[in-house]
Amino acid sequence: MAVGTATQNPALGLAAGIVSHFICDSLPHLDFPPSAQFVDGEIVWDRKMYVFAITDSLIAFGFTLAAWIIRDHFSFTSMLAWGGLGGYLPDLVDNFPLWRDKVHALPGFRRFHAFHMWIHDNWRHTYTMPEYWKLGVITQLVTVIPALWYLVK
Ligand SMILES: [Zn+2]
Repeated sequence: MAVGTATQNPALGLAAGIVSHFICDSLPHLDFPPSAQFVDGEIVWDRKMYVFAITDSLIAFGFTLAAWIIRDHFSFTSMLAWGGLGGYLPDLVDNFPLWRDKVHALPGFRRFHAFHMWIHDNWRHTYTMPEYWKLGVITQLVTVIPALWYLVK
């Protein structure tokens, strides 16, 4: 959002949101509840995982929507909205269980998925979750609190 606000360019705000997603993915964090199951390194999407992912997404969407309404009055040039969309887009395209397998079959998206997973691989084998959940929570707080402060200041 800061890049978009500085430039007043929605495309740059969207791009900066996407880049920020990968920067945040490069830091140890909790992607899943501690009880999540894995098979061959891939998450098992059971009912509990769907509830967790949908709840997590709805909370993030609710905060972003509220900030968009209160701060930017639903403006389509809102850098908050474009940056937020960019920040969510990689997971929405690459990891949403209802269409992820179809997306991965599209040209280029299998490589995109490999890149997305490679970002996580920089830490996830060293700081395995949920074993290092405290580190995951700390990195999330250290990144989220300044971002929220920036939104409400
Ligand atoms: Zn991601």
